[in-house]
Amino acid sequence: MSALIKPPGTRNLRLLFKQLHAVRAICVSSKCYADDHAQKPKSTAEHYDIIIGGGGLVGTALAVALGKNKVLNDKRILLLEGAPPFKGFNIEAQYGNRVSAINNNSVELFQSIGAWDYMEERRVKHVKQMQVWDACSDALIKFQDEHFAADVACIIENDLMLDALYAQLADNTNAQNVEVRNNARIEGVQLSVDTGDKYSQVHLKDGKTLTCELLIGADGANSLVRKQMNIDVFSLEYQRRGVVATVQLEDACDNTVAWQRFLPTGPVALLPLSDTLSSVVWSTTIPHAKHLLELSDADFTKALNEAFFKEYPKNGVVVNAMNTLNSIIGRNPDMLRQYPPAVNGVIEKSRASFPLGFLHASSYVCTGAALIGDAAHRVHPLAGQGVNLGFSDVRELVKVLSEAAYAGAKLGDNHYLIKYEQRSLSKNVPIMVGVHGLHTLYSTTFTPVVLLRSLGLQLTDTISPIKNLFMKRAIG
Ligand SMILES: Cc1cc2nc3c(=O)[nH]c(=O)nc-3n(C[C@H](O)[C@H](O)[C@H](O)COP(=O)(O)OP(=O)(O)OC[C@H]3O[C@@H](n4cnc5c(N)ncnc54)[C@H](O)[C@@H]3O)c2cc1C
Repeated sequence: MSALIKPPGTRNLRLLFKQLHAVRAICVSSKCYADDHAQKPKSTAEHYDIIIGGGGLVGTALAVALGKNKVLNDKRILLLEGAPPFKGFNIEAQYGNRVSAINNNSVELFQSIGAWDYMEERRVKHVKQMQVWDACSDALIKFQDEHFAADVACIIENDLMLDALYAQLADNTNAQNVEVRNNARIEGVQLSVDTGDKYSQVHLKDGKTLTCELLIGADGANSLVRKQMNIDVFSLEYQRRGVVATVQLEDACDNTVAWQRFLPTGPVALLPLSDTLSSVVWSTTIPHAKHLLELSDADFTKALNEAFFKEYPKNGVVVNAMNTLNSIIGRNPDMLRQYPPAVNGVIEKSRASFPLGFLHASSYVCTGAALIGDAAHRVHPLAGQGVNLGFSDVRELVKVLSEAAYAGAKLGDNHYLIKYEQRSLSKNVPIMVGVHGLHTLYSTTFTPVVLLRSLGLQLTDTISPIKNLFMKRAIG
């Protein structure tokens, strides 16, 4: 230990301070390790310090981030995923139909865990501008960095993100303390907080039982871990489905703009993938979604072009109010409006649809367990925030767990887990309320609401500080 500490000099004081911290971290974590191992259960159940239930994007990102954290590198971490092993990402294959708009905070997380370069080397589409407009009034808002330097978002296939995360786990210079088990469905959980035992138990479908000090529920919106934590949820089914597809553009173009038009049935978005391809997320009523999936490729293409270009009937009161506002603020909407590229085909078999809803857990933690990602919160995809909120949870949870380990506390210590909850809630709740509010506001054609939302959108686009505030929240 003494070899680590150099003699103090005034210029070396800061260095000494850092070294003392490093030494303390090593001492504390090895003491914990020794204590823990002395107290490991004597049963035949396999024991882990942390078990992550659910290996979707968020659970896998957490496994990598924990595995790469130096303060936690003596912890045994297990990622349990109910599905068979991930088949990997094939760059020669067609673009996947599940893509996500990733914000700058999520990019930072990927950079910090070494997964970003892997994605960039394959295919990441940088979005430089976003245009959102209302079919009922043509009110519009544009988001972009003033000098087009920063990205508004990056569009990345979900499979590529997962592949990049698995590549980190497979690289044996990294995250050696992380084990992944597929086909490992959790069928039951007994939390230590309920049984009074030292460790929680996780029962798998194959009959095995595992124990852990901290169980993380990353098992999606129907989380079994959350149910076992006895946490109330506020949830709504929107009675809408999100139809996704990969489409071919009529003409090759720079394609760096993301487009979203609010239709009376829900928003339709066109997200750039390459110079010639875009991804569609079309949120609509359940019968309409079914109809869109049944259409021939040619008819779906026609319906999509109509969704972006068709003129919807406009209310005279709204049109007059918008004209008055535009003349007061000196704005000519026709000069500002851009049109999305026309679509001339849909990639075969790329159409699918997913249910849309809202869910928020009343609490994210209890002693010995925590929730992250969709297990804790689920939002409408209209603002592309769902997985970004999950990645933000990952960052907050890893910070708190390393603080706990550094201080020699138990990983399941509620005092630390509550800190994670507070930090995540303060980030997630305003975004969730905003996204749900937008869904509600745009789910009606009732004239007073259309009038208010159109004036609001137009004003927000004009008043830079408000618009920047929105942008900062949404793009990180
Ligand atoms: C159409 C659509 C478009 C979207 N677009 C965006 C976007 O552009 N940007 C964005 O930020 N978000 C977007 N989202 C939201 C985003 O997809 C989700 O927020 C994200 O996938 C949630 O990830 P997760 O890992 O928390 O949960 P999930 O993806 O649900 O993963 C949970 C994992 O847990 C596993 N599991 C479940 N139960 C068990 C069990 N009992 N035992 C073991 N394993 C289990 C499952 O197999 C699964 O792998 C979109 C959503 C939809 C529907």
